[in-house]
Amino acid sequence: MPLQELSASLHNCQRCKLAKLGRTQVVFGTGNPTASIMFVGEAPGFNEDQQGEPFVGAAGKLLDKLLESAGLSRAQVYIANVIKCRPPNNRDPEPDEVDTCKPFLLQQIELINPKLVCTLGNWATQTILEKKVGITKVKGQAIKLERFVVFPLLHPAAALHQGNLLETLHEDFKKLRAYLDRMDAPVVQTMPASVPPTSPAAAQPQLDLFGS
Ligand code: URA
Repeated sequence: MPLQELSASLHNCQRCKLAKLGRTQVVFGTGNPTASIMFVGEAPGFNEDQQGEPFVGAAGKLLDKLLESAGLSRAQVYIANVIKCRPPNNRDPEPDEVDTCKPFLLQQIELINPKLVCTLGNWATQTILEKKVGITKVKGQAIKLERFVVFPLLHPAAALHQGNLLETLHEDFKKLRAYLDRMDAPVVQTMPASVPPTSPAAAQPQLDLFGS
């Protein structure tokens, strides 16, 4: 099923109680449908619910700056949330809502097929890792899963509420950039000049995140 079809199948979704709790529309996701890097947040807030796009409010503006600092643009990546409808008063998602929406996030990831999934905050991190792990323990590091690598980051909204987290978030986006650079480095560059590549495959970039 193409991504557009999955999006259409969720239009006016009534599968969980959020449909009746004041959401304006389903916020499916936005960006490059074949992106190598995907960002996953928690749930749409007021602005996202109004505009139908993830991360368009204050946290989104910060995310744009952080992306830019890492040499990334919105057009290059794909951005989605764990749950696709705004919870009333921006309360935390409830377990039944996550359980209902998670299969669609997983389908979305499967269709986009990114090499790297950057989870923003506790909700996205725990949902993707399927583990009750604190974001402060795992943030800023690459965790390899079967189909992709997870790179947990603090949620931009947390840094807006707690100014002391802002520097950490900037540092972690630097770590993300460094990770992307390492992944893009051709394997031959890490070998001593006297050792020729043993096979044509050895001369290929190890993991080309941008398909360039
Ligand atoms: N916070 C999120 O987690 N997602 C959004 O889309 C906006 C704010």
